[in-house]
Amino acid sequence: MAGIYIHVPFCQSRCAYCDFYSTTLSEEWKSQYLYALEREMRARRHEVGNVQLDTLYLGGGTPSQLSPVMLRRLLDVVTGLFCMKADAEVTVEANPDDVTPLWLETLLHTPVNRISMGVQTFDDALLSLLRRRHTAAQAKEAVEACREAGYTNLSLDLIYGLPGQDLEMWRADLDRIEEMNTPHLSAYALQYEQGTELFRLREAGKVEEADEELSLQMYEELCQRASAMGMEHYEISNFALPGKRSRHNSSYWKQEPYWGFGPGAHSYDGARCRRWNDAQLKAYVNAAGDVPHGKEILNDDELYDELVMTRLRTCDGLPLELLSPENRRYCLRMAEVHLKSGKMTLENGILRIEESGIFVSDDIMSDLMR
Ligand code: SF4
Repeated sequence: MAGIYIHVPFCQSRCAYCDFYSTTLSEEWKSQYLYALEREMRARRHEVGNVQLDTLYLGGGTPSQLSPVMLRRLLDVVTGLFCMKADAEVTVEANPDDVTPLWLETLLHTPVNRISMGVQTFDDALLSLLRRRHTAAQAKEAVEACREAGYTNLSLDLIYGLPGQDLEMWRADLDRIEEMNTPHLSAYALQYEQGTELFRLREAGKVEEADEELSLQMYEELCQRASAMGMEHYEISNFALPGKRSRHNSSYWKQEPYWGFGPGAHSYDGARCRRWNDAQLKAYVNAAGDVPHGKEILNDDELYDELVMTRLRTCDGLPLELLSPENRRYCLRMAEVHLKSGKMTLENGILRIEESGIFVSDDIMSDLMR
């Protein structure tokens, strides 16, 4: 498996919880960005060569903030420069309020076959607190419009543990998800990232963080409901109907090679080398064609940590045969306490975090790391 990620760093406005790099700069900057992106892809085309790509992912930021003409141009350039497999998974992230008939009509002329939508919650008061630009009704309409246009491979994003959100409100969000019956769901616990509006509101005592017990109850409810919907819990925060896992994100968790283009985008050679671009749009625009800027070669310990952090995220687990004999011994020694508690299992040489351990998986993985 091999894929391409393209970062589209534009957002119409900033959401209160988000610390991703994105900018609310003008249309003029979008043109400059596209020009720089094209230069970068042409300059680095040789890195991909004739590799047949399994996935292409347009993430952000908000890719749906590109005008239909820009989006089509971008995808024409990508498909002109790189070899995509006939059955490649091609995903675009979208915000519900950008899903217009014209946008969908444009997509039909591109290889996009999967849409990932940031819904976050179906509670209008919470959407407003999060500074999202859409309403619950718009999210529902956007999903219906995608389906009517022929896009059934849809993924929705939710956030739980929102300020003032109780278990009943979270159940109501999951009811809406069940009604929509989309094949993929990503659900994340709210994080208060430094520098965000929500972080400042919490520091000022204007919003209260959900306590751990409530977050755990919400997570358990999420897992039970997703399972009842026939979804497999294939990664800490990701659920999918059979055959509908995100192939692109799954390749990250299997250390497969990918090339990232655009500001802040990362690339990985599938072995030891990671590279990344400058995250600032202006610097990227000035430098494109002369990127990536950052590079690191993972040493043995870092490679081991990477395997622990990525493989144990998924239900496929960590095959111990991927580890050196010394790391295997170390890993099993550190995992012992979790194996005894039942939070981990070891079966046929594959170490896994069980459902009961997923809520504390960060702690487990950090115990196993070098
Ligand atoms: S959550 Fe998405 S739409 Fe909102 S600011 Fe962050 S990247 Fe932009």
